[in-house]
Amino acid sequence: MKHLIKEIRSPAAPQMNDLCEQLTELSGGLQTHSDWPSEQLDRCAEAGVFRWFMSEEWGGYGWSDEDVVRGYLRLSSACLTTTFVITQFVAACRRISASSDKRLKSELLPELAAGKIFASVGISHLTTSRRHLAKPVLVAEPVTGGWSLNGVAPWVTGGRCADELVVGSSLKEGTQVLMVAAMNSRGIQVENGFELVGLSGSQTGKVSFENVFVPDSRVLAGPGENIMSSGGGSTGGLQTSALAVGLSCAALEYLKVQAVHRAELQENLAALEQQMEQLQEHLFSAAIGQPSCSREALRTEANSLVLRSTQSALVAAKGAGYVEGHRVGRWCREALFFLVWSCPQPVAQANLCELAGLEL
Ligand SMILES: Cc1cc2nc3c(=O)[nH]c(=O)nc-3n(C[C@H](O)[C@H](O)[C@H](O)COP(=O)(O)OP(=O)(O)OC[C@H]3O[C@@H](n4cnc5c(N)ncnc54)[C@H](O)[C@@H]3O)c2cc1C
Repeated sequence: MKHLIKEIRSPAAPQMNDLCEQLTELSGGLQTHSDWPSEQLDRCAEAGVFRWFMSEEWGGYGWSDEDVVRGYLRLSSACLTTTFVITQFVAACRRISASSDKRLKSELLPELAAGKIFASVGISHLTTSRRHLAKPVLVAEPVTGGWSLNGVAPWVTGGRCADELVVGSSLKEGTQVLMVAAMNSRGIQVENGFELVGLSGSQTGKVSFENVFVPDSRVLAGPGENIMSSGGGSTGGLQTSALAVGLSCAALEYLKVQAVHRAELQENLAALEQQMEQLQEHLFSAAIGQPSCSREALRTEANSLVLRSTQSALVAAKGAGYVEGHRVGRWCREALFFLVWSCPQPVAQANLCELAGLEL
């Protein structure tokens, strides 16, 4: 079979090129909320991509944070939708791995690493979504042997395809609890994905809960205060910046090809390439634990670069790039995603300053 891909055990493995070529080829097919990157995810599973993020104990390859960043950079420059879906899977796995419950981990993590089951997260209502509302959108109440969940997780990627959902809820007294719910539990309803400005193929939408019972054995963290601030990553984490830089790479590759015979593009390209190199260095130094700037500054720069590089590619692609179906137009829409995805307040504020032409 043509598309069989050997396992990718390091970001420099030559098979990475094969996988990325295939993801690029398929990326144009993800247009609406009825699409889903199932073929792409199958190929990723075949290449062992899900194992990159998991420790050897659970069947993973235990890649370092630096290698994970390198992997994300490659995948996201090939297909942002597939890579974004993978980040939500990884967010779920990280939260499960951070739990102290060995039995639960050994039940779920090896299956997740092998790509046999899929997991997603519904946690934004505890961090960056619906925070200004007086009442929590998803509430957990203690019942015999576990918890009863009522309300809605407003944003869940790939809910229909997920077997497990790492979901955060609020308690009446104001604390929070994080648990992993089986998606076939009675009372869970996955609504249709939204038709989005970009990334509609991630099938992101609401998941409703009506008296959903989750046993105590499936609690990952809490009940407690601010349970999202520890264990398994935070908003505006390195992977969000890595994906923005990856998409910028795709746009700059396009610009590079165009600039070969168009002198007027060369100065713009050189400036953006230099910023890209610098940003990659910041990403790698953060990944090895020697940050050269704050995570927020990194994300702010990445947001700025992805908007400017995709729009520069559109200037080069001209009207043809604005026609539905052209990849450059798609990249411009996808770049807007970084203004809203897991965007902590200081980053949103810095983005607003840049858009208003104000000094930070
Ligand atoms: C494509 C996509 C996929 C996603 N996937 C996931 C996922 O898998 N899992 C997950 O957990 N999260 C996911 N998210 C959620 C994401 O990380 C953010 O939490 C989300 O984008 C925040 O947007 P919101 O509209 O919910 O914000 P909100 O803060 O709820 O804003 C909604 C509206 O409320 C109003 N508003 C906002 N703030 C205020 C205020 N202070 N005062 C008055 N009015 C206000 C505004 O009119 C705004 O339009 C996803 C988001 C997107 C776009």
